Amino acid sequence: AVKAEVNQLKDGDKKGLVDSVETFIFDCDGVIWKGDSLIEGVPETIAMLREMGKRLIFVTNNSTKSRAGYLKKFLGLGLEITAEEVFSSSFAAAAYLESVNFPKDKKVYVVGEVGILEELDGVGIQYLGGEADGDKKVTLSPGQLMEHDPDVAAVVVGFDRNVNYYKIQYATLCIRENPGCQFIATNTDAVTHLTDAQEWAGNGSMVGAIKGSTKREPTVVGKPAPFMLDYIANKFDIRKDQICMVGDRLDTDILFGKDGGLRTLLVLSGVTDEATLKSPENEIHPDYYTSKLADLLTIKAS
Ligand code: PLP
Ligand code: CA
Repeated sequence: AVKAEVNQLKDGDKKGLVDSVETFIFDCDGVIWKGDSLIEGVPETIAMLREMGKRLIFVTNNSTKSRAGYLKKFLGLGLEITAEEVFSSSFAAAAYLESVNFPKDKKVYVVGEVGILEELDGVGIQYLGGEADGDKKVTLSPGQLMEHDPDVAAVVVGFDRNVNYYKIQYATLCIRENPGCQFIATNTDAVTHLTDAQEWAGNGSMVGAIKGSTKREPTVVGKPAPFMLDYIANKFDIRKDQICMVGDRLDTDILFGKDGGLRTLLVLSGVTDEATLKSPENEIHPDYYTSKLADLLTIKAS
């Protein structure tokens, strides 16, 4: 097999890469922060790129917060950004439903946390489930049917730390029994790093439960699916070849960038190490890789 070339970003490449694009899309966890702590040098790098006139956009697959929730998180970490610059897979689920003219007299059943609920509120789409069903149990006597609302026309599945059998059964009934009911996944990340010390089951596990019971494939709105990129390119009228995607994960961020025709930069400050990147099993190759976003700061000195 031909060994694909993986280029470590050299000082001499940095200015050229930055000059070749007008926009940077940053993944959040692993690039900007790890959990609740800012990654070293990020504020300075963002400030430098802004001074250079770059448009900066932040995109996360984590559906547990809404855009408003992320804005608060950025500001709390001392990063000055605006509401228009942040996109989450929770927002993408709501924006997708709007884009397909989801009827306002129908409802969404949510397996997921508050981020999705806030975004659905934002577009005026009615919903059931989410936090409200966090403590529910299925207790049926023989012959009794579990009820479900026939007006549920979409099920949205996002990361849910209170997922339970009731929610799985409710979502399953809606998808199997309501004609035309859509199945939407915010993202399908296999594992996530809720804490640094280990990997935790990601939204792929919640989506997998509903896939398993319905034999249906979801419409994915988070990375690597193109929905958010198309939305962003449209909204800001940006050409895709004028965007550089910076991320820490090969099968979401870098694939999102490559499939979309973006320049790609992998940072090793998150979930991917150099051995995984260079392993013969890996087929997703970024244009460049570097240890962390702040490596771009040496442009300033040159
Ligand atoms: N989903 C969940 C539940 C997470 O906790 C995380 C990261 O912490 C992600 C997804 C990935 O987020 P990002 O796309 O910002 O790396
Ligand atoms: Ca990430």
